[in-house]
Amino acid sequence: MPRYEFRCKDVGMDCGFEIRGAGSKEEALEMIAVHARRAHNLTEIPSEIRSKIEAAIRRV
Ligand SMILES: [Zn+2]
Repeated sequence: MPRYEFRCKDVGMDCGFEIRGAGSKEEALEMIAVHARRAHNLTEIPSEIRSKIEAAIRRV
C-alpha cells in the first residue's frame, strides 16, 4: 500500500509538523487541515495554498 508524507516546511511554513504514513492523499489532506487550523489559524485553506500542499504531499 502506498503511504503519503508531508512536511509543513515544504510549503514555506516555519514549522516542524510532518505527516508520515497517511494511507491516502485525502487522509493526509484532512490531517493537514486540522493542523492548519490549530497551528496556523487557517480555518479555511485558500485554494493556492491547497494546490501547494497537494504538490508537497509525497507518495512513498
Ligand atoms: Zn505547520
